[in-house]
Amino acid sequence: MEDRFGHHISYLRVSITDRCNERCRYCMPQEEQEWLPRDDVLSYEEILRVIRVGVGMGISKVRITGGEPLTRRNVIWFFEELGKIEGINDIGISTNATLLAKPANEGESLTVADCLVRAGVRTANISLDTLDRETYAHNAGRDYYDLAIAGIDAAKKAGFEAVKINAVLMRGQNEHELWDLVEFARERELLLRFIELMPVSSKEMLTDANFLPTAEAKKILEYRLGALKPLPEFKTNGPASYFEVPDSGGQKIGFIGAMTNFHFCDTCNKLRLTCDGKLRPCLGSHLEFDMRDVLRDPEMTDDDVAKFFLNVVDRKPEQHEFRDNYEPGRKMIAIGG
Ligand code: SAM
Ligand code: SF4
Repeated sequence: MEDRFGHHISYLRVSITDRCNERCRYCMPQEEQEWLPRDDVLSYEEILRVIRVGVGMGISKVRITGGEPLTRRNVIWFFEELGKIEGINDIGISTNATLLAKPANEGESLTVADCLVRAGVRTANISLDTLDRETYAHNAGRDYYDLAIAGIDAAKKAGFEAVKINAVLMRGQNEHELWDLVEFARERELLLRFIELMPVSSKEMLTDANFLPTAEAKKILEYRLGALKPLPEFKTNGPASYFEVPDSGGQKIGFIGAMTNFHFCDTCNKLRLTCDGKLRPCLGSHLEFDMRDVLRDPEMTDDDVAKFFLNVVDRKPEQHEFRDNYEPGRKMIAIGG
């Protein structure tokens, strides 16, 4: 699938729930978040159908996200079914890691992370913005730091092909810890990426007081680590720019600068499916199209679902609107990051 601007679409990011066991300030409003009624959420069978059709249309990479995907019931079964779909060459999960170290079933020695690897999940993208327990609890709204670290260790042990850490940059929260995060990632052989804060929760989150641009984060790191060497050839299927840390045995770190990188959207290859069945051509646009109606109409065939994909790809904007005084609509937790 190719859009009007030459973006080749091969990546589907699928949210399976808008619920979460954490309450990150940048992802959801701090006042009461209304969860979607259960009937509005696509069943696993409906989601698998969309993915199957998508794969027939050229989707080769699928990442499961949320909310927190591991809070949804029977999620291991879902991943096992996903792993059976032919034609996907990369299955990933985005998670806060707090449930990865848990036994998959009571009294069993396999962890949730082990079961995901067995089901064919290759990469785990884990959110970790800080190594300070108090800052973690402040940002995530839950005192789950130890669970997250245990989850990261369980992910490493389970043998994912890659475990990546996503750290959202927040001035006044973690700018004094950037070196520590780099060291943490080096010690555990994790691929660390620093992400600029985007206006996807409430507009107030994205103030000058909170926002830390990737260029500044890079400068802070270089102050102690020395010049980071650009790695323009190193890519991981997304918009991150990678650099090598000097005298580190080849450690790579990435920067994802949606707000300040004007070429951010040039290589976009992604569509998003929300858990209530909206197909979104771009994270930073309010455009979304209701696929659930098609999926739940007995008259509609897989060909109709395929046509729906093509129509949405055709509406994909050239670039996101975050820099245009963007007012968040649907929150990140209900889109799927
Ligand atoms: N619960 C999982 C997790 O935390 O990784 C998956 C869903 S979460 C919405 C996916 C990613 O979105 C996380 O890495 C999180 O840091 C990122 N994210 C959420 N809100 C963000 C924001 N306002 N700006 C940048 N990244 C954000
Ligand atoms: Fe939950 Fe992930 Fe959003 Fe945090 S970033 S509230 S862990 S969905």
